[in-house]
Amino acid sequence: MNKNIDKKAFQASWTYDEAPESIDHIQIKKQYELFIDGKFIAPVKKHYFDTIDPSTNKKIANVAEATSEDVDKAVKAARKAFKGWSGLTGKERGKYIFRIARLIQERAREFAVIESLDGGKPIRESRDIDIPLAANHFFYYAGWADKLTYAFPNRSPKPLGVVGQIIPWNFPLLMAAWKIAPALATGNTIVLKPAETTSLTALKLAEIIHESGMPKGVVNIITGAGETGSQIVNHPDINKIAFTGSTGVGKYIQKAIAGTQKKLTLELGGKGANIIFEDAAIDQAVEGIINAIFFNQGHVCCAGSRLFVQESIADLVIQKLKNRMETLKVGSPLDKNTDIGAINSKKQLQTIENYIKIGLNEGSEIYQPKCQLPKQGNWCAPTLFLNVSQSHRIVQEEIFGPVLTIQTFRTIEEVIEKANNTPYGLSAGVWTDKGSKIFHLTQKLNAGVIWANTFNKFDATSPFGGYKESGFGREGGLHGLKPYVKFE
Ligand code: NDP
Repeated sequence: MNKNIDKKAFQASWTYDEAPESIDHIQIKKQYELFIDGKFIAPVKKHYFDTIDPSTNKKIANVAEATSEDVDKAVKAARKAFKGWSGLTGKERGKYIFRIARLIQERAREFAVIESLDGGKPIRESRDIDIPLAANHFFYYAGWADKLTYAFPNRSPKPLGVVGQIIPWNFPLLMAAWKIAPALATGNTIVLKPAETTSLTALKLAEIIHESGMPKGVVNIITGAGETGSQIVNHPDINKIAFTGSTGVGKYIQKAIAGTQKKLTLELGGKGANIIFEDAAIDQAVEGIINAIFFNQGHVCCAGSRLFVQESIADLVIQKLKNRMETLKVGSPLDKNTDIGAINSKKQLQTIENYIKIGLNEGSEIYQPKCQLPKQGNWCAPTLFLNVSQSHRIVQEEIFGPVLTIQTFRTIEEVIEKANNTPYGLSAGVWTDKGSKIFHLTQKLNAGVIWANTFNKFDATSPFGGYKESGFGREGGLHGLKPYVKFE
C-alpha cells in the first residue's frame, strides 16, 4: 500500500468488486404449465400468476394456477400410475431415481441461478448447499429402493398409494427432493405443490423427471397458492399428505383430514435455541451464531433465532458478533460475495418489519450494522435484539427473517428451562468444550435436531423433524422411509 494513504481512509474506501453469476446459460420460459400425467398442460381455467424476482420485484414468468379440476386430473394420473410403479422391482425404481439425481448434478448451475433469481437466496448458498443436497437426497433414496426389506426386516413394507405433498418457499428444490425421493423409493405416486412465490425449480425438476423417462403420472407437479394446496389436502383419493410449512396451516390440515383414512406428516415452524457456554471456542461460536440466524436471510425453520450466552462472556460475544455483522454483505442474490440476499416476498418483509416494530414497542434494544440496502426489491438488515425477556413476542414467535434475540444465563439448569420455554421443538445448538455437557444438554433439550459446536448442517442420511408445534414425522435417513410405507 502507498505509504501516503492512511489506513483508515483505505479501509473506508475498500469495497468488494461485483462478482455476479452469469445468467447467459439459463433458459426461463415466459410461461409455465402444469406437469400432469407426464405432459406439460395448460390449467383448465387458463389462469396464471406472476412469479417475481424478490431482489427487484420484477416479473420473471407466468405460472399456471391449478384449480380443483386440475388437482383432480393430477390425482387421477397418479392413481392410474400407481399399480405399474409400485409393481416395478426396487432396482428398476432406483434406476429412475438415480437418473434424476444425475440430471440435477448435470444442470446444477442452472438450478442454482434460478433458485436465487426466484427466491432471493445468495447464489453461494443455492450453489453449494441447496442444489447439491437435493441431488444427494435423490442419490441416497435411490440406494434404498431395492433394499426396503433390509430397512424394515421381517415386516414386508408396502407403499401407501397416492401422496399429496405441499412445500414452502425457503428451500424450494431441496424441499421437493426431501418429499419426492423417499416417496418414489417406496413405490408411491405423487402430486406435489411448490409455494406460489418459488415454483420455478420444481417445474425445472418436472422437466428432468420427464427427461429421465419415468413412467407418466408417477410424479405430477402442480402450481398454485394456498387454495390449490387445500384442494390437494381435501381430495378424497389421496392416501397421505406430507406438508412442510407454517404451524397455522399445519393445524388447518390436521383438522381437515381428521376422521379420514389419510396419513399425515407435518414439518412446521421453529424457534431454535443456540446456547454458548463460557468454555466454548468463542470465535468459532460467533461464526456459528451468524450462520444459525443469517443463513438464507433467516428463512429457516430450524434457525438459531434465540441466542443464549453465558453471562460471564456475554459482553465479549456480543461485541464480536456486532463486529462480524459489520462485515456482512447484503445485496444481489446473484453476486458471489453476497452473505444475505433478498427477503422472499413483500408479504414476508412486512411480517419481519412488523416484528421489528413489536420488539421496539416491547422495549428491547435493537442493533443493526451500517449497511446500504439496495433501493429496489425486498431487503432487511441483519438485526439483533438485546434486553429481551422470555415473555416478549419476538422471543416466543417465529419471525422467519434475519432477526436474533439475545438473552444471558448463569447455570445449565437455567438455560435448559429457558431454551425449552417455547411451543416449538425443532432445533437447538450447543457450543462448549466439554463433551459431557453436550450429552447432558442433548438429553434435556426438547428439539428434534441438536447440533454441537456447529449449526445448520444437513445430510441426506440424517433424520430431520420436530416435536410439539414443530410437527411430527421425520424426513431424511432411514426414518424418512417410514412415513411412506404400511405393513400388512
Ligand atoms: P405456509 O404454511 O404459508 O405455506 C406452505 C405451503 O402450504 C405453501 O405451498 C402454501 O401455498 C401452502 N398452503 C397455504 N395455505 C394452505 C392451505 N390452507 N392448505 C394447504 N396448503 C396451503 O408456509 P410458508 O410458505 O410461509 O413457509 C414458511 C413456514 O414453513 C415457516 O413457518 C417455517 O418454519 C416452515 N418450514 C418448516 C420446515 C420444517 O422442515 N419444519 C422447513 C421449511 C419451512 P402458497 O405459499 O402458494 O400460498
